[in-house]
Amino acid sequence: MGGTSPRSLTAVALVAVGVLAAATVVVAGAAGTVHAFPVGAAASALVGLAAALSMLLRRGAGGAERTMGLAVGLWAAGQAWIALLALRQPGLPQQPTPGDALQTFAAPLALVAVMALPRPSGYAGRRRQLALDGAVVAATGAALLWRVAFLPLDPSGTAALTAGAVVLADLAVLGLCVQLAVAGLDRGAALVALGVGLFVSADLVNTHDLVQPGGTWPWSATAAACAAWPLVAAGFAAAGRQRLGGPRLEAFGADVRTGAVTTALVIVQVLAALVSSTVSDRPVDAVTGVLFGVVVASLVTRELVHRGQRSRLVEELRHQALHDPLTGLANRHALSARLAELAQDPELAGDPGRGDRVTAVVLDVDGFREVNTRLGHAAGDQLLRVLAQRVSAALPAGWTAHHYGGDEFVAAGPGDLARGTRVAAALLDAVAAPVELAVAGAVAVTACAGVSSAADGETDPLTAVAEATGALREAQAAGRGRVHVHDEAAHERSARRLQVRERLREAVAAGTVTAALQPVVDVATGATTGFEALARWRDAELGDVRPDEFIAVAEEAGLVPAVGAAVLRAGLVALQQAGGVERRLRLAVNASPLELRAPGYVDGVLGALADAGVPVDLLTVEVTEGLFMTTDDPAVAVLAELGAAGARVAVDDFGTGYSSLSYLERLPVHIVKIDRSLVSGVDRSRPRAVLEAVVALCRALDLEVVAEGVETAEQAAVVRGLGVQRGQGWYWSRPLPPELVAQHVAERSAAL
Ligand code: C2E
Ligand code: MG
Ligand code: MG
Repeated sequence: MGGTSPRSLTAVALVAVGVLAAATVVVAGAAGTVHAFPVGAAASALVGLAAALSMLLRRGAGGAERTMGLAVGLWAAGQAWIALLALRQPGLPQQPTPGDALQTFAAPLALVAVMALPRPSGYAGRRRQLALDGAVVAATGAALLWRVAFLPLDPSGTAALTAGAVVLADLAVLGLCVQLAVAGLDRGAALVALGVGLFVSADLVNTHDLVQPGGTWPWSATAAACAAWPLVAAGFAAAGRQRLGGPRLEAFGADVRTGAVTTALVIVQVLAALVSSTVSDRPVDAVTGVLFGVVVASLVTRELVHRGQRSRLVEELRHQALHDPLTGLANRHALSARLAELAQDPELAGDPGRGDRVTAVVLDVDGFREVNTRLGHAAGDQLLRVLAQRVSAALPAGWTAHHYGGDEFVAAGPGDLARGTRVAAALLDAVAAPVELAVAGAVAVTACAGVSSAADGETDPLTAVAEATGALREAQAAGRGRVHVHDEAAHERSARRLQVRERLREAVAAGTVTAALQPVVDVATGATTGFEALARWRDAELGDVRPDEFIAVAEEAGLVPAVGAAVLRAGLVALQQAGGVERRLRLAVNASPLELRAPGYVDGVLGALADAGVPVDLLTVEVTEGLFMTTDDPAVAVLAELGAAGARVAVDDFGTGYSSLSYLERLPVHIVKIDRSLVSGVDRSRPRAVLEAVVALCRALDLEVVAEGVETAEQAAVVRGLGVQRGQGWYWSRPLPPELVAQHVAERSAAL
C-alpha cells in the first residue's frame, strides 16, 4: 500500500480497530463470559459495516471493490440481526435466524467480487481457468472437511444440507482467493485472501457448531470477522498496485505456480479422503455424495477447459513461431518450409514440362532507415504493416509473402525467372503507391527487388533466396525502385574478379608481377629499335592471367601504381642487362591515367631510371586514350613534366577510344601507336583509307607513328608502303621473357 495517502491511513486505522476489537472479544471469550459472543457479534457487525462503507464509498473504487463492499454490508446486516438477538439473551443456543439468511447472500457476492480482482498475469481465459482450479480445490476440500469434521456429528435434514452448502461456498471463496493471490502475485489480492481465509475458518467453526444439537454461538467466529473485514477492505484498496515477492517468485510462470498449487492440494485432499474413508466405516451420506459429485464435475470441467486452452495455446505458439509479430506475415522459418514444399510438389512447382522452377523475389524498401529516423519508429512500423498487406495482396495464386525481418520481404512461388520478374514488378508498383500514416501523413516509398529461381531438384531453393538477395544488392547499388535478376554468368564474373583481386594483392606484395618485352622495330629494315614492357603474372592457382583482365582489377583495387612500378623495374633491368642502353634502344611502358594521377609518379619513374642507369630520353610512356582526360586533368600535367624531363609520350591504341584528334592537340604527345584493329584490316579498302588518313595526320603534326599488331608480311608491306616508321607485332616478334631479351638484342637490334 505504497505511501501514506489518506486512503492507506484509513485502511491502516480500520485494520487497527478491527484487530483491537478482535483482541477484546478473544479476551472476553477466553475469560468464559457469556457476553463474549453478543459483544463480538455487535463489534464484528460494526467493524464489518465500517469496512463495507470504506469499500463502497472509497473514491476510485472499482466494480470488484464495490461488490465486495455490498457483500460485507449484507453480512454485517445479518450479523447485526444476530447481535441484537444475542444481546437481548446472552447464552442463547445457536439457531438459524433471518440474519443467517442475509449472510447467505453475501457468499456469492463475495465470490463475484473476488473473481473481479485485478487481472492475473497470463493469457486470455486465465481467470476462468483459475476459477475452475479454485472450484476443484474447494470441492475436494469441502468433501474432505465434511467427512472429517462434520459427519461424526451426525447432521441430518436441512441443517446438514445448509451446513454442506456453507462449507462449499466458504471454501470456494477461499480457494479462488488463494489462486488469485498466487497467480497475480499481488499484495492486495494476498491481503484479501488472508482476510477471507480468516473469516472462512471462523465461519466453518461457526457452521460446525450450528450442526451440533444445542451448540452455542461461538465467539471465536466474531473475533475472526472483526479482524477479517478490515483486511479485505485494505486488500481491495491496495489491489493491483504492488506486486508480491521478489525475482525468485517471478521466475516461475504464473501458470506453473497456480497449477502446482492446485495439483498439490487436490492430491493431498484425495489422499486424505482415501485414508479417512478407509479408517471410518461410516456409510456415504447425502452431503458427501453431492460433494463428491461436485468434485468429479469440477474436475471434468477443469480438464475439458484446460484441454481447450492447451490446444489454443499450442496453435498460438505455432502461429507465433511461423509469423512475424509486427506484420502478421509468415516469417523466415515459414519460408524454408514453404520452399521445401514447393520444391517437392511437382504440381505446385508449375508447368511440369518445362524445367519446373521455384522462384524467389526478395524486396527491400529504399531508404527505410530514413523513414524510421525522420518520422519515428511508430511511423516505420505502420508503414511496414501497410506494405506487408500490399505485398501479400499483389501476389498471384500459389505465391506466399514472408517478412524476412527489418524492411525486407520475400515472396516465393511456382514459376520461372520471367514470372518472378513480373511478380517483382507488381510488388514494386504496389509498394510505390502513397501510404497514409497516422503520425506523419502521406509518404511514398520505393523498393528494390532481386529475383532468382531454382530448377526443381537441382538447387536448394534456399540458394535461390540467397541469389535473389545478391541480385537485390546489385539493384540497390544501381539506384532506387529497381529489379535485378540473378545472372549466373555475372555472378561468376564478379566472383572471379574478387578472386583475381585477392591473389593480385598477394602477388604485388610478393613481387611476382614481372614483364615481357616486345620489340618495336624499324619498319623499313626490321631492326629492333626498342621494347614495350608488358605486365605478366602467373598465379599458382589461376595460372597465367591476361593483363587486360588484371590491369582492370588493379585499377579498381588501387594496385595499378605498384604493378606499373614492378613492370618498369623489370623492363629497365632487362634492357640494361641486354646492353640496350649502349645501343640506344628505347623502353616503352604503359601507364593508366589513374597511375599518372597517383602522387609521386614522376619521382618514382625518375628514381627507377637512375637506379637502373637508364637515361630518361630512352623512356616512352604510353597512355591509352580509353580513359578520357581533360586538359585540367593532373595526369596531363604529369605527362608534360615527363616530357620536359626528356621522356617521350605515346598515345596507345589510337583509333579506338574517345575523340582521337582533340587528344593529339591537347596532350603533350610525341608518338602515336595505331591500334591493331586498324592495322589488321588493311587488306580491305575502308580501314586502309582510315589508316592512310591517320598516318598522314600524324605526319602533318610531326608525330612518330608506330603500327601495332602487325601479324603478316602483307600487313608489314602495307604499313611500310604508307611510310610508317615503327612497327610492333608478332610478324617481327612476340613479347619476350626478360632472359631472352639479351640474345634478341645481340641478333636483331640496329647496329651501334
Ligand atoms: P597495349 O599496350 O596495346 O599492348 C599491346 C598488346 O598487344 C599486348 O597485349 C601484346 O601482347 C599484344 N600484341 C602485340 N603484338 C600483337 C600481334 O601481332 N597480334 C596480337 N593479336 N596482339 C599483339 P598484352 O600484353 O596482353 O597487354 C594488353 C594490354 O594491357 C596492353 O595493351 C596495355 O594496355 C595493358 N598493359 C599491359 N601491361 C601494362 C602495364 O604494365 N601497365 C598498364 N597500365 N597497362 C598494361
Ligand atoms: Mg602499350
Ligand atoms: Mg596498344
